[in-house]
Amino acid sequence: MTEADQALKARIRALAYEHGFALCHFTRPRIPAWHRAALQRWLAQGFHGTMHWMADSERLQRRIHPHALLPGVRTVISLAMRHHPPAYTLSEALHAKGRGVIAAYAQGDDYHEVMKKRLKALARALDALLGRHDQRVYVDTAPILEHALAERAGLGWQGKHSLTIQRDIGSWFLLGELFTTAELPVDRAASAHCGRCRACLDVCPTGAIVAPYVVDARRCIAYLTIEYKGMIPHALRPLIGRRVFGCDDCQHVCPWNRKVVPADEDLLGVRREHVLPDLAQLFLHDEEAFRARFRKSPVRRTGRAAMLRNVCIAMGNDGDPRWRTPLRKALDDPSALVRAHAFWALTRLGGETKMLRAAVAREQDPEARRDMLRTLQEQKETS
Ligand code: SF4
Ligand code: SF4
Repeated sequence: MTEADQALKARIRALAYEHGFALCHFTRPRIPAWHRAALQRWLAQGFHGTMHWMADSERLQRRIHPHALLPGVRTVISLAMRHHPPAYTLSEALHAKGRGVIAAYAQGDDYHEVMKKRLKALARALDALLGRHDQRVYVDTAPILEHALAERAGLGWQGKHSLTIQRDIGSWFLLGELFTTAELPVDRAASAHCGRCRACLDVCPTGAIVAPYVVDARRCIAYLTIEYKGMIPHALRPLIGRRVFGCDDCQHVCPWNRKVVPADEDLLGVRREHVLPDLAQLFLHDEEAFRARFRKSPVRRTGRAAMLRNVCIAMGNDGDPRWRTPLRKALDDPSALVRAHAFWALTRLGGETKMLRAAVAREQDPEARRDMLRTLQEQKETS
């Protein structure tokens, strides 16, 4: 690399830091063969669950051939924006009776919005620096194998839990990309440093990390509580515990996160009421109240019904009889999803047989009714 190349990269990196990014690395728009093969195997096994867009052939082609996203793209700039790690240990989260757990990245503003603004501002600064070039910015919005590109760019390696890890800042960060037609000098790919560790595989409450680097989304609590909008499989409900939006367990135990010093600036603005929130306060029966509570938060994207479904499961797993009152009310919720999960949670809290039978009798939604009958059947089998 010439001195001029080095100076240009240093200038771009400095601009990225000024715009709030902690890491900024460069690569060509190519996905290494092993990442392509791993993706194909993952899809063939159905590990993407209901995320059908991931298997869509046109989108898949763009995912494995990133140059198809922007004609003439020569360089991918991979960027990391840090968020605050959880303010509690995994053990504290697991023992916080009556409290729900929201993943650390989702405890403040929606990172998609925050990062996109910063990426766009960075892109404007690059326009001034690079002159004629085309560019596009992405934050989890296009079919991009962002972890594979980050690894190739030397930003960090993909850990066995499938997230990207960097030696100094661990894995508490989010990725974004800037594609440009300008040909910039690239960085060396990162090497992996998981070694023989398998802490994430062992801690995963649902056994979702079925092999190193392979996460079966259908079992992953992050997918189940955020992406998945249907009835949660009965066998997984008890394993979800009180996690109401996402899951950080595999990151909590990662040795690379042990000594990480949080960033000075809290770019997403953690809200205290979203740090181990009181389950009672998450039980928002009203759509307007839900939108107000989760204004600007990524939780809002999941929608009230799916979030309440998660809160019902958390209450059932929490085991406190005081949750019977809100759960009884939820048996008449407008959402069949909420009614079925409230039913499951009430069964778990015990008693109320007459009232539960009445709820089945008046249930009009066939899927919710089936789910309730299944709950009763399971209860019979275990009693
Ligand atoms: S996010 Fe949670 S459920 Fe998903 S792989 Fe990690 S530990 Fe397992
Ligand atoms: S917990 Fe261990 S195996 Fe898992 S990502 Fe971290 S270092 Fe790798």
